[in-house]
Amino acid sequence: MIHYTCDLCGCVLLEDDDVRYRVRIEVYAAYDAMEVTAEDLDEDHEEKIDALCRQISEMEEDELTDSVYKEIEFDLCPPCQKRYIKDPLFKKRPRIRFNDSEN
Ligand SMILES: [Zn+2]
Repeated sequence: MIHYTCDLCGCVLLEDDDVRYRVRIEVYAAYDAMEVTAEDLDEDHEEKIDALCRQISEMEEDELTDSVYKEIEFDLCPPCQKRYIKDPLFKKRPRIRFNDSEN
């Protein structure tokens, strides 16, 4: 029998349980619609492209792909689903402190 584990509380979710919840989060780069102005046409695009290529060449592959698109999936039991949808961005919970040095 296939079983899953709630990714928040760790309880076992059995395949024949009435309900389990799957959360899928997509984090992707959002760009505004492109609007080309006369100023844009006068810019030195070659210099910008060179700078972008240098920046990309210095990035790890995972870092580069994650900066464009990242999909995260996890399973929740019913009680954790109720808590999660009330506060999906963890605004009401203690703040998670992100530290660049932990990468
Ligand atoms: Zn749970």
